[in-house]
Amino acid sequence: MKLLLRASSLVHAAHCSNVLRAAGIEAELRNTWLAGAAGDIPFQESSPQVWIADAANETEAWAILNAAANPAPGPRWRCAHCDEWHEAQFAACWHCGTMKEG
Ligand SMILES: [Zn+2]
Repeated sequence: MKLLLRASSLVHAAHCSNVLRAAGIEAELRNTWLAGAAGDIPFQESSPQVWIADAANETEAWAILNAAANPAPGPRWRCAHCDEWHEAQFAACWHCGTMKEG
């Protein structure tokens, strides 16, 4: 096992772990139970951690997480309800709340 990262929140750590597993990298969460003790022990010791089973996957794991954090831009889309234009990463219209189609 190799420590890949320490996250500032359990939600973030769980997200990273899920992304890695979905991509086929064996990953596990640790320190999930220490969050409540964060005031008593140093942050580096208490923060949630994501570990990977095989240290050889570290480079690939970071590439996957970076790709997940920075989704490739797609075409702009136009709201079917109000004709407002949006960048690809937005799933709903900021103007009227209509969901992106397709
Ligand atoms: Zn709209």
